[in-house]
Amino acid sequence: MKTKLIIISCLVFFIFGNIDSSGFNIYSDFPSGNISIEKVKNDTLWLHPDLRDTKGDWFYWCFAVDMAKGKSLTFIFTKPNVITTAGPAISHDRGSTWKWLGIGSVKNEAFSYTFSTNDEVRFSMGMPYTQKQFDFFIKPLTESKYLKLDYLSNSNSGKGIERVIIKPPDGKVNYRVIITARHHACEMMANYEIEGIIGEILNDAWLKSNVEFCIIPFVDKDGVENGDQGKNRIPHDHNRDYNDTCIYEATSALKDWIPLWAENKLFVALDLHCPWIKGEYHENIQLVGSSDEKIASQEKLFCDILKSTNNGELKVSDKLYLPFGVDWNNTISYTAGITFRKWVSGVEGVKLPLSIEFPYAINEGQIINQENSRLFGIDLIKAVKVYLRQQ
Ligand SMILES: [Zn+2]
Repeated sequence: MKTKLIIISCLVFFIFGNIDSSGFNIYSDFPSGNISIEKVKNDTLWLHPDLRDTKGDWFYWCFAVDMAKGKSLTFIFTKPNVITTAGPAISHDRGSTWKWLGIGSVKNEAFSYTFSTNDEVRFSMGMPYTQKQFDFFIKPLTESKYLKLDYLSNSNSGKGIERVIIKPPDGKVNYRVIITARHHACEMMANYEIEGIIGEILNDAWLKSNVEFCIIPFVDKDGVENGDQGKNRIPHDHNRDYNDTCIYEATSALKDWIPLWAENKLFVALDLHCPWIKGEYHENIQLVGSSDEKIASQEKLFCDILKSTNNGELKVSDKLYLPFGVDWNNTISYTAGITFRKWVSGVEGVKLPLSIEFPYAINEGQIINQENSRLFGIDLIKAVKVYLRQQ
């Protein structure tokens, strides 16, 4: 889907005839870009997320402003629940590093920002992560004899779906593990976890010598690059596409490939997600409980292990496990189609098919950032190691 370029410097003059508010540009025509601008008057903008093909409301947005040095702009969102408890995230380096504007920076769905530069400043509800960030992270690691980067398939629009394989050079392994992210395009915080996970696997002699990992960082690659919500996409999203007939190339390829690759050694499947934007059940790391009692008992075992490997900054608590039947985790949430977790639990040998929700901004009152998200990825893969060694 094409993103929009909106040059306010021209529009404002012609639509509102106000020369004072001209001079700056606001745009979203870059990977991950998403915004709908309703109105601009002087230094105030009214805007909302571009839902595109989303059923119902969702909250993802990301835009950039330049040529605004000396200006204080106020951004008013016309829909509720589109900014995190920590405010919007801001980047001064085209999306490489992000910081939250901070708790208390948003009043009545609006925030203001004073620009000290004419250079680009990006704003988003989260800390967007696209192929550009992944390439920067993974390129040096492809030197490792343990790691291979190739493509699972093409996306529906022809983009490559990256697949990272990490295994010992002789290929002899006792276990296999698959890790997926961005079944829902907007859930970018999962990719920082993945950076931590990959780094730790390559640092750990036992993991890289005994386990073959397959990591798919962007299942909905088109949605990630286009800046889509991805969640609740019409007619259904990527994580409701594991039906007899798939409508997305990536899910179809995963369904074809995983059973061939697994060879009865695929013990763990880890599907990484992010929850709703804020509020109870959405501001703590959560392992989503299965309705299958056998799987649920393995999940509870894994939760106990994760508590023991939780040495990073972001702490899990007794709220880590969300049993089936509590809050949104109920039958109604799974009527739109079969999820990856549900499908992969049927692959021979799979004992622990996990779905983990990692919040955007707040975990148990702690502020989430790129680095502590990576550290949580390390805790997570260390827990997988302990779990596998008990098998
Ligand atoms: Zn999700």
